[in-house]
Amino acid sequence: MKNYTQSIAAFQEAQKHIPGGVNSPVRSFKSVGCDPLFIASAKGAKVFDIDGHEYIDYVGSWGPMILGHAHPDVVMAIQKTAAKGTSFGAPTLLETEMALQIKKMVPSVESIRMVNSGTEATMSALRLARGFTGRELVIKFEGCYHGHNDSFLIKAGSGALTLGTPDSPGVTSGTAKDTLTAGYNDLDSVKEMFVKYPEQIAALILEPVTGNMGVVIPDPEFIQGIRELCTQYGTVLIFDEVMTGFRLSKGGAQQILGITPDLSCFGKIIGGGLPVGAYGGKREIMDKLAPKGPVYQAGTLSGNPLAMSAGLTTLKILDETDGFYDMLEEKSARLGDGIKKCLADLNFPGVVNRVGSMFTLFFTEEAKVNSYPDACRSNTATYAKFFKMSLESGIYLAPSQFEAGFMSAAHTTKKIDRTIEATYDALTILKG
Ligand SMILES: *Cc1c(COP(=O)(O)O)cnc(C)c1O
Repeated sequence: MKNYTQSIAAFQEAQKHIPGGVNSPVRSFKSVGCDPLFIASAKGAKVFDIDGHEYIDYVGSWGPMILGHAHPDVVMAIQKTAAKGTSFGAPTLLETEMALQIKKMVPSVESIRMVNSGTEATMSALRLARGFTGRELVIKFEGCYHGHNDSFLIKAGSGALTLGTPDSPGVTSGTAKDTLTAGYNDLDSVKEMFVKYPEQIAALILEPVTGNMGVVIPDPEFIQGIRELCTQYGTVLIFDEVMTGFRLSKGGAQQILGITPDLSCFGKIIGGGLPVGAYGGKREIMDKLAPKGPVYQAGTLSGNPLAMSAGLTTLKILDETDGFYDMLEEKSARLGDGIKKCLADLNFPGVVNRVGSMFTLFFTEEAKVNSYPDACRSNTATYAKFFKMSLESGIYLAPSQFEAGFMSAAHTTKKIDRTIEATYDALTILKG
């Protein structure tokens, strides 16, 4: 057993001063039943805890670190920008440069507004969709997570799902009433809502590939059907690409799926590890935002120079490195296929869902995981054991069954093969 003394003590101290000892619930490791690691530093594909252990990291700060941690170009960009002042509350050239870079990579974005988190992006996009359509209802999907806005904490995924509060107290019944929840990959459940409320649905929001109930891939007829329904009923289709944006391809999930949303939300990678979110899309919708239009949304630190320089540097590397996404696919396929082979060789029940550099190993008897109910049939106790064994062998996974793992450009073949070996060993023990 590794000695986690420092982390355990640090967590005890933190719990005295911070609710649950953490500033975001999933960090607490509550759903895997152990104390969280406190991180001292990270570099490339590795994280180091305060007890001096090193781990191959597949959390990647929950998505942003696609280049690996502390990428030298990103660090340098932040340092250079910081020396010139960290915030002005006035326009800067970096913000226009960022907008141009995003528009180049994601052609459905004609105009874009920067905010400070994914949560702010989805919250603002929903308000905008309501302001644009003059309607109030929103359709979301069971198991999808769109940040912690009231409207989206109804049957939500990620921490809200893992920690047992998908419908959060504190959300008013009025708000809950405006949120309709459909089944992912269940087009009929969406059609029913449009038939019932043909002129009241302002927006439909979804993760175009989910990460927050684990990775679930949309059926082509489902995603195509949603696009057609939104067009038919005048509903704003919002792709929440906070996780998938700039990860699944230069143009995100919408590029690989070949579907054009009306609005897209971004976060995570777009900030290169600093707090950033953004939402953008059709000009006629975006033009409704203040100061041009009547829908209000603002932010003292929005478009912050440090955040813009970290994000822009990251996006430029993704855009300008030849074959970046092919390289990432190769690494991710090696890991995904390797884990599948472990399951097959040991005849261990499980499903690996993977799209590009996002993957989840579901511990399930089912043949596939294609929906929220499928995901929920996974064995979380087995996952918790697997998680702890992985930590022991120096592999840092998401502390929950219902999350995606992330590959970065810094993961070497050697590290990936070590991960596969450790997985084989852990599954062998679990097989008992
Ligand atoms: C992480 C995430 C969010 C929330 O972003 P924050 O920056 O944590 O507020 C929203 N939507 C999706 C799909 C996410 O993965």
